[in-house]
Amino acid sequence: MKVYVIGIGLIGGSMALGIKALQPNSTIFGIDANEKHLQEAIDLGVVDLAGKIEDLASADFVIVSVPVDVAMVVLPTVLDAIGDDTIVFEVGSTKMPICEAVANHPKRRNFIATHPIAGTEFSGPSAAIHGLFEGKTNIICEVEKTAFKLQEKALELFRDLGMRIRYMEPKSHDKHIAYVSHLSHISSFMLGKTVINKEKHEQDIFDMAGSGFESTVRLAKSSPAMWTPIFKQNRKQVIKTLEEYISNLTQFKDLLINEDYNAIFEEMESVNRIKEILNGMKK
Ligand code: NAP
Repeated sequence: MKVYVIGIGLIGGSMALGIKALQPNSTIFGIDANEKHLQEAIDLGVVDLAGKIEDLASADFVIVSVPVDVAMVVLPTVLDAIGDDTIVFEVGSTKMPICEAVANHPKRRNFIATHPIAGTEFSGPSAAIHGLFEGKTNIICEVEKTAFKLQEKALELFRDLGMRIRYMEPKSHDKHIAYVSHLSHISSFMLGKTVINKEKHEQDIFDMAGSGFESTVRLAKSSPAMWTPIFKQNRKQVIKTLEEYISNLTQFKDLLINEDYNAIFEEMESVNRIKEILNGMKK
């Protein structure tokens, strides 16, 4: 089996490691605009060889795992180059603009739009993790637009990688992901900013930072090159979630100003049920 991974970073690299473990006889080719990343991926054994777009006609799978703005440009070129039996999937964190970018391509039926809900705050091939997708959800959009035979091939791979499949419309994906992923990143970036700004004047502050701070601010280590185009593509939904979040923060501040500790207690108690919700998701 020949697999080409375009963008050999955290997600593409983790896919490559997972596929190689499942199919040791497969050849994994890496294509990356960043020569250092490509060489690193080869040195680390994440991919076997460097590949070229011109060779995609003989590929079984092509995985496009680049930032979402790049995906919109790269995908039509990839679809132009593939063979009739090649399946291309893309893993970006937004789905509407990407589905629209390939909607009228003559090879649309060779494409499947996915978003694996798995990752870390790190980037590049050295961040790739074997087993990253085990037990995670893969959101598939517009599955009916992919040729049935190729759908089956892709779904079998996702299941072999240990993923649960969930089908969604691109619009619905972008709306819901704004809450559970995009807002979490902004919240973490702005928490980091608030503390960094304060630290400029009070050097001791990081000595007091405990594991609670560290886990809440973890996502602020994420790559701006990846996140800026995500916020741009999902701007409307992200603004909506931010408005709701800011309103909740303001309401909490008002409760404190008014010394309404009963309401503060109740507010936190009502959100405690997040524990059960998150536990339910893991089952
Ligand atoms: P990453 O680790 O930064 O890897 C992306 C790679 O693509 C980098 O090596 C990057 O090089 C390269 N690249 C950029 N432009 C390119 C081009 N024109 N052609 C070929 N390669 C190019 O990013 P990632 O975290 O794997 O994310 C990849 C995709 O997965 C994104 O669309 C993201 O939305 C999605 N995703 C991410 C996560 C997550 O938690 N990270 C989770 C689910 C889905 P440079 O570094 O030089 O730009």
